[in-house]
Amino acid sequence: MKRRNMLGVSVFATGAAIARPLHAASLKPETIRQKLKILVAGAHPDDPETGCGGTILRYTRAGHEVVAYYLTRGEAGIPGKRYDEAARIRTAELTEACRIMGARPVFGGQMDGDTEVNRQRYDEVKQMLDEEKPDIIFTHWPIDTHRDHRACSVLIYDAWLSQGMKAALYYFEVDTGGQTQHFHPTDYCDITPVIQKKHEACFVHKSQKIRETTYPEFHEKMEIFRGLEYGSDYAEAFVRHARSPQGWIP
Ligand SMILES: [Zn+2]
Repeated sequence: MKRRNMLGVSVFATGAAIARPLHAASLKPETIRQKLKILVAGAHPDDPETGCGGTILRYTRAGHEVVAYYLTRGEAGIPGKRYDEAARIRTAELTEACRIMGARPVFGGQMDGDTEVNRQRYDEVKQMLDEEKPDIIFTHWPIDTHRDHRACSVLIYDAWLSQGMKAALYYFEVDTGGQTQHFHPTDYCDITPVIQKKHEACFVHKSQKIRETTYPEFHEKMEIFRGLEYGSDYAEAFVRHARSPQGWIP
């Protein structure tokens, strides 16, 4: 259920069965002017940008703080390059993308293509969430063909549970049709005002040839299709966890 608050921004009605809305107070319409902290967790450089780049820009332009968490540095993502070389190139690309989006990058220290889900990794991600204390979390939808995306999703989910479900939790889609599957959105963000800037942030990932390959094949279609659903030119779409506190999306 969506309505408009006095500032003219979309807000979402509080569900009746919120388990522990410890941070929910900070997200109520009457207090939305306060600065929110948003954490966007992706498995690789370019996942936060392509899945949530427009939403990140809408948050940062509204004065909120965004942390982009990268579980790996995309070590396996450049054919012909050694892992350390690829990591250096892709770290430079994501750093520039974060500069464009106004986000701060944070790293999970795992290896691209070989991410682990075990007690130690759960503890590491839990510690990261304890340090960052986000009000709102975005991460990969867990039904995804890429193992690293699935790993990132369950690590974040477990840390969110361990924290007592304090933050609003949303799942984002990447390359729907190719990677994300069975994704049926509950929430949307109109990214029309920032679409050019989002593309700028995505296209700095030159090593991935996003502009020539995945953008026309997937991202452009997703942005337009979600916009058709939502009633805007371009949109990004999310699934909110039903037990998550009330969130706020620009
Ligand atoms: Zn990825």
